[in-house]
Amino acid sequence: MGSEKIKVGVLGATGSVGQKFIELLVDHPWFEIAELGASERSAGKKYVDATNWIMKSPLHNNVADMIVKACVPNFESKLIFSGLDSSVAEEIETDFANAGYFVISNSRNHRFDKDVPLMIPEVNADHLKLIESQPYKGGIVTNPNCSTIGMVLALKPLHDAFKIKKINVVTMQALSGGGYPGVPSMDILDNVIPFIDGEEEKMETEPRKILGKLGAGEILFDNDIQISAQCNRVAVIDGHLETIQVEFESKPSKDEIIDAWINFKGEPQKLNLPFAPKNPVHYFAEPNLPQPKLQRDLENGMAASVGRLREDALFHYKFIVLSHNTIRGAAGGTILNAELLKAKGYLDNIV
Ligand code: NAP
Repeated sequence: MGSEKIKVGVLGATGSVGQKFIELLVDHPWFEIAELGASERSAGKKYVDATNWIMKSPLHNNVADMIVKACVPNFESKLIFSGLDSSVAEEIETDFANAGYFVISNSRNHRFDKDVPLMIPEVNADHLKLIESQPYKGGIVTNPNCSTIGMVLALKPLHDAFKIKKINVVTMQALSGGGYPGVPSMDILDNVIPFIDGEEEKMETEPRKILGKLGAGEILFDNDIQISAQCNRVAVIDGHLETIQVEFESKPSKDEIIDAWINFKGEPQKLNLPFAPKNPVHYFAEPNLPQPKLQRDLENGMAASVGRLREDALFHYKFIVLSHNTIRGAAGGTILNAELLKAKGYLDNIV
């Protein structure tokens, strides 16, 4: 592409996912932050006054001084990243798409719309074609739930090679997955909360669409896989850890599973997209890895780490997967979706 970057607007810019977008996009080679949107509480204020900046990197002056806008489709930027609260995302994202904007969203609202791709670029890049069936002047592309993304990245190469029949997953999910300030400290310190509203349903349904086949204007869900999920909130800041048991149509060897993981590459790696991890899945042979504190930032937070692969008494195998929930599972995953859109030519006419 030429030297001109694509201007992007961030909706929900003051929230945790919104802040992560801003942190990750600062030096992006293709995209530049041009506009920020949030609720009426924040609109009209300087960004620095509207948000409680909790990212590790300092807030850049040019972003700090931007005036936050209301989330109405009068933005100049035609590419929109959405980290909107799900109570408002449905209507606002639809309004933007109808008005000609490309909305790449983290919110759950449009994930199961018939013509909206639920994308993990390494897994189902071909689903992007659904955009062409959308009634909008622009378009909507969604990210799966943060726990689903880590799990499906680890399962995709195994499903392709050995066909998965059953999955049992138990999650230990980080606090940042619930937004800021999230669960009160008095509730989570010295504790585990064995309930995250809506999360188990998302983990049990989203993989069926992501692993489904592209049909005419819709995805033909992979309904042959049985999935059971149990989700827990733990006192970790970033990084969802999941224990997974899996059964296949025919049982592979341990080495075949490890080979499938370490050789796994998808469209983002072939296209050499800026946010693509070199290897989407990293295998650890050490008996005590992966761990959130040690592996969550691997490949800039965009890779999933797997380990503790062993035979299981109930299913064929069990293992652990870890992924960064606000990077791979939210803002970073959304940016990778937008990069794929750009690389496939869908953004050619919006600059
Ligand atoms: P959050 O910290 O609560 O931020 C919500 C954002 O939505 C804020 O910018 C807020 O603006 C804005 N907002 C609220 N009401 C609004 C309204 N009426 N009009 C316009 N904007 C409004 O939430 P979050 O954790 O960043 O999550 C954002 C979305 O991403 C959610 O749908 C969530 O489910 C999803 N998600 C989160 C994660 C994660 O790891 N955190 C992962 C995957 C997906 P104000 O500051 O002005 O109120």
